[in-house]
Amino acid sequence: MDPSKIESLITEKTSAILPVHVYGFPCDAKRIGEIASGNNLKVIYDGAHAFGVKINGNSVFNYGDISTISFHATKLFHTIEGGAVITDDDKLAEKLFLYRAFGHMDDDYYSVGINARTSEFHAAMGLCNLPRISGFIDERKKINLLYKENLKDLPVGFPEIPHDIFYNYSYFPVFFRSETEMMSVKDKLLDDQISARRYFYPSLNLLPFINGESCPVSEFNASRVLCLPVFNGMDEDLIIIISDLISAALNK
Ligand SMILES: *Cc1c(COP(=O)(O)O)cnc(C)c1O
Repeated sequence: MDPSKIESLITEKTSAILPVHVYGFPCDAKRIGEIASGNNLKVIYDGAHAFGVKINGNSVFNYGDISTISFHATKLFHTIEGGAVITDDDKLAEKLFLYRAFGHMDDDYYSVGINARTSEFHAAMGLCNLPRISGFIDERKKINLLYKENLKDLPVGFPEIPHDIFYNYSYFPVFFRSETEMMSVKDKLLDDQISARRYFYPSLNLLPFINGESCPVSEFNASRVLCLPVFNGMDEDLIIIISDLISAALNK
């Protein structure tokens, strides 16, 4: 989210800003916080990708009024299914606690609610993963660097990791020059049964049921980005095979 574009979009109906820490790269949380307090708005971060990420040594989840995080099986830290809402507002936490469990405690009913509780089984999966996270991050960092080394002579771009960010290496997005080049790489990989994801596509503003503003930067990036496979236990040989296939697709 480009903070310089936020203020001109605020109307009397606006109550909150909902930025996404895409691929785990933090938004400009300081600037967004200033805009929010200057306009009396709340900030709700989608931090689904940002487990373990830090800004200047502070958890990314210290920013905003609320952060949400996903513990789905495809995420860096997971409990198979699940997630969390993080806030430092005790009143809000109490409300959310009730919303998550039917809005009641014993025979006292306080609000509407759903069943969004985590089961013991899911929690146990989380406890298995939690102690291994820093090892996961170290390993993924090596994979990230190997990919970059192998792809460095190709006409592709990678997001820069800012110096004040502790990154979790959850994804390895590669930006191609065009959708055509990206698709030729995706198809080439698929010929060898290697699945790289268009993550995210389409740009959210283009969903048919959303009355979206035009978002040219997001639309352009969504059309040409591919997330390459990254997983713990990934063999160095596989990174070389994938990089060679990409090179072959682009040099055709
Ligand atoms: C995965 C993901 C979600 C959804 O998480 P669930 O746990 O499946 O609800 C939301 N936002 C982003 C950016 C995601 O990647």
